[in-house]
Amino acid sequence: MIMIMLGAQGTGKGTVAGLISEKIGIPQISTGDIFRKNINEKTPLGIEADKYISKGNLVPDDITVPMVEEVLSSEEAKNGAILDGFPRTIEQAEKLDKILEAKGKKVDMVINLVTPKEELIDRMLTRRVCSNQNCKTIYNIKLHPPIKEGVCDKCGALLKQREDDSDPEAIKRRLEIYEEKTSPLVEYYKNKGVLKSETVSISINRMGKDVAKEIVETLK
Ligand code: AMP
Repeated sequence: MIMIMLGAQGTGKGTVAGLISEKIGIPQISTGDIFRKNINEKTPLGIEADKYISKGNLVPDDITVPMVEEVLSSEEAKNGAILDGFPRTIEQAEKLDKILEAKGKKVDMVINLVTPKEELIDRMLTRRVCSNQNCKTIYNIKLHPPIKEGVCDKCGALLKQREDDSDPEAIKRRLEIYEEKTSPLVEYYKNKGVLKSETVSISINRMGKDVAKEIVETLK
């Protein structure tokens, strides 16, 4: 099963992917998380990627695509993957199709999360992430706060704010890139007949966990 999470930044792709992954036992592969891990560990890939990520720009394909190909070829992904943050452009989607085709696989399902624009910026500013790399649970201090302020409910590690979530310029740039480069993927996957759009919004009291529950039900 190859599943893709689509949606603008702040819609809850990571949360939904994490919940589905837990339930169906297919790994969540987040390109953003892989980059952040490399940045923390100051690897050559991390140092290079940080030049783009800190400004809210996309990391070039010659770095991103081989990285994804390697994970998809690993033992971890032998039964499939939930891709969170990849592809982000039509070019990446076409490259992904080729990578999967060579493995006799294809994109089976694309979940497109839709959240009203006015909620997105607030969601990014109030997002907090567990600093434990093996946990990485995502919180929102308004919508889904931890029991104890600043501390992860699951593992007790400190929560932190992503650097690119605290810089209004980087947030603006990321949303512009989403509109321009990533949103055409909705049409791309609709044409392939694999797209499922889901609204996530506080205004209708429908959160990521509700979407995840529904998707898991459809997979039973
Ligand atoms: P995310 O955690 O998905 O919001 O990703 C954080 C940042 O990592 C993005 O703003 C990009 O700079 C970079 N990134 C993640 N996935 C990709 C991708 N598929 N292509 C290029 N850059 C990416």
